[in-house]
Amino acid sequence: MFKKFRKNQIIFAATILITLVAFLANLSLISCNNIEKNTDETDKYTEFRNNMVDYQIIARGITDKKVIDTMRKVPRHEFVDQSLKDSAYADRPLSIGMGQTISQPYIVALMTESLELTGDERVLEIGTGSGYQAAILSEIVKEVYTVEIITVLHQKSNIVLSEYPNVKTSNHDGYYGWKEYAPFDRIIVTAAPDHIPQPLVEQLAAGGIMVIPVGPPGWNQVLWKVEKKDGEVITTRITDYVAFVPLTREIK
Ligand code: SAH
Repeated sequence: MFKKFRKNQIIFAATILITLVAFLANLSLISCNNIEKNTDETDKYTEFRNNMVDYQIIARGITDKKVIDTMRKVPRHEFVDQSLKDSAYADRPLSIGMGQTISQPYIVALMTESLELTGDERVLEIGTGSGYQAAILSEIVKEVYTVEIITVLHQKSNIVLSEYPNVKTSNHDGYYGWKEYAPFDRIIVTAAPDHIPQPLVEQLAAGGIMVIPVGPPGWNQVLWKVEKKDGEVITTRITDYVAFVPLTREIK
């Protein structure tokens, strides 16, 4: 009787042990699957990103190593909505909501290269949008100040930009720059006004460079480089026929 009781006890304990082992094995399988899935995703976007840099950026003549290396690194897919992640590295602008767009990768590269960055600069960006251009700049320079007029986009970009501690954001009309932190070594404007805003010229430091598209909505805008040299303001054309969203003048 006693022996039979012991035998039952052993069988019971063994059953529990086997169930436990099976459960643990299953758990680790699930987590292995997750790791594998995440690694696959990472590999996929790294490949997309490298193709983007090789075929859209280097192939079109961008040579600045800092720009190339940074665009290989910053995860552009994290700056767009879930449904657009797989299109994030395509050769075109993408919607970021509120009628606004994240610029085509080549335009981001061209504007960043045109700023002639050395790494020590304090840069002002007008038009935070998704935050992607600000993130690219933050990897290259010392401090980035970025201004967005649409509150929803300002709040949304704050989330992803919290990973970039040298970026400071604000929700106001960027036509007036950001006086509190002026002057800036570089200014980049990612929405097109119909003239170069005087407050931005004033907030550009001596020896500074501003890159800005100017023109009516559509493909008739010109991308300008504005330099402050020996007290003079020199404006040169970077390229014709760019299309940016308009620089608007009211807080939405
Ligand atoms: N640099 C952005 C591109 C954004 S598109 C990116 O990397 O995603 C241009 C942005 O400029 C839009 O989000 C638009 O709302 C913003 N904008 C338009 N007029 C503005 C103004 N007066 N001041 C600040 N931002 C403005």
